Amino acid sequence: MPSLQFTAESSSNDMGERAPLIFDVIIAGCGPTGAMLAAELRLHEVRVLVLEKETEPASFVRIVGLHIRSIELMEMRGLLGRILEHGRRRPAGGFFAAIATLPPEGLDSAHAYLLGIPQPVLVHLLEQRAIEIGAQVRRGCAVTGVEQDDDGVTVELADGEQLRSRYLVGCDGGRSTVRKLLGVGFPGEPSRTETLMGEMEVGVPHEEIAATVAGIGETTRRWWLRPFGAGVYQVVVPAAGVSDRATPPTLEDFRQQLRTLAGTDFEVHSPRWLSRFGDATRLAERYRVGRVLLAGDAAHIHPPIGGQGLNLGVQDAFNLGWKLAAQIRGWAPEALLDTYQAERHPVAEDVLDNTRAQMELLSTEPGPQAVRRLLTELMDFDEVNRLLIEKITAIDIRYDVGEGPDLLGRRLPDIVVRQGHLYGLLHRGRGLLLDRTERLTVGGWSDRVDYVADPTAALDVPCVLLRPDGHVAWIGDDQQDLDDHLSRWFGRPTELPQRD
Ligand SMILES: Cc1cc2nc3c(=O)[nH]c(=O)nc-3n(C[C@H](O)[C@H](O)[C@H](O)COP(=O)(O)OP(=O)(O)OC[C@H]3O[C@@H](n4cnc5c(N)ncnc54)[C@H](O)[C@@H]3O)c2cc1C
Repeated sequence: MPSLQFTAESSSNDMGERAPLIFDVIIAGCGPTGAMLAAELRLHEVRVLVLEKETEPASFVRIVGLHIRSIELMEMRGLLGRILEHGRRRPAGGFFAAIATLPPEGLDSAHAYLLGIPQPVLVHLLEQRAIEIGAQVRRGCAVTGVEQDDDGVTVELADGEQLRSRYLVGCDGGRSTVRKLLGVGFPGEPSRTETLMGEMEVGVPHEEIAATVAGIGETTRRWWLRPFGAGVYQVVVPAAGVSDRATPPTLEDFRQQLRTLAGTDFEVHSPRWLSRFGDATRLAERYRVGRVLLAGDAAHIHPPIGGQGLNLGVQDAFNLGWKLAAQIRGWAPEALLDTYQAERHPVAEDVLDNTRAQMELLSTEPGPQAVRRLLTELMDFDEVNRLLIEKITAIDIRYDVGEGPDLLGRRLPDIVVRQGHLYGLLHRGRGLLLDRTERLTVGGWSDRVDYVADPTAALDVPCVLLRPDGHVAWIGDDQQDLDDHLSRWFGRPTELPQRD
């Protein structure tokens, strides 16, 4: 992929006036979702401008976990190596409602772990990648106005400057200006409970903490101290009674809460970061209004329990990127872009639901506590544990791409193929036909879809057609049927398929 820097077109209209700059896609917000989307679009040489309202990257360090599916996506684009240099691998289990469990045996992934990494570092790496391959990022530019017509979108910035693009994607977080300007509803539940979360060191031995926490934990679930490596603990305590929402929490707030809950503050000190969050849960009614789309927290918010928000946003970007690029490159079949909402809205609904369930399980009321005890017992069953972990790590997702074997619509794991690892063949963000019969061809779609013949590939079906996001779009061994599906996902062939 060449590292392209482009200059936005400008042109004159009939009156000789200078028309605003033209981009293919403007992305509002350079968080993880916006940065990932910019990189995905650049794989297809779409002219991308990212507008970020903050002048400097966020300094607020929040350690997030990349779950299995997100780690796989990074591997699919050749980014995992550089991300691993800055992250720590942790076991993939124990996320659901913070119920301590080991991951089940044999999770079907080459990357069955959690990757803990500071969010600003991850965002920096994604942004750097997007810039390397030609995205433009402008900081200190808040989007304040949006107007669309048949040909494009006019985006107005806080200083009155107007920019024009063919599409706009709002990746501008939970309080999304773009969503509000579109008038898209954001129904759900407001925040009821505020929580403090931070990472800090402690002044007492681990055994003492473990014994104290075990003794009290049963009755007040909404707090914990968990070792997070290198002498650092993650501390979660209720925010009730502590300052107000507008004021950032202090270490003293944590100490006070710990003393109230546990009778000791464990001599916490040297905080890495401190934050406060609520449990509002909301989902945008629509992900697309004409030429404007929403992704990431702009489309859905939920409490951070289970660590899924960033993962969900990055995966939205991965689903949307190739479809929007196809639309811009002119080969998108009709309705391809609408599959973005059709596929991702239900996934977000499911994540919102599982976080609602997890929040209930953290309640200190006797009923939820009893359900929690029951679920803890049930999680000893491998199938229950597996179901919950596959849900949180998003490897259970099956898009509705039609009737067929269970694999259809699911992601294909990073299987070994003759040419190396499957994901190593997906770096360019193109479709891929993996053909065990060695009889089929991608014919007139070869400019969009790669062909790999390998009779030894670890598949129990003859051939699979993979979309650029690694999901299985077709299974079979019949060329005509394949051509129909190539048309369905990749549009018209550039030339008629050649037949013997
Ligand atoms: C305490 C806590 C812990 C968390 N832990 C995890 C975890 O472990 N795993 C996980 O997956 N998720 C976690 N999350 C959630 C995660 O941080 C978010 O889901 C994630 O940041 C969403 O990414 P985003 O890019 O969609 O939005 P954001 O990160 O909110 O980025 C939006 C960007 O848009 C910019 N912006 C806003 N308005 C405008 C505008 N008008 N014009 C231009 N730019 C604008 C903002 O400055 C920002 O840079 C956690 C959240 C919290 C609060």
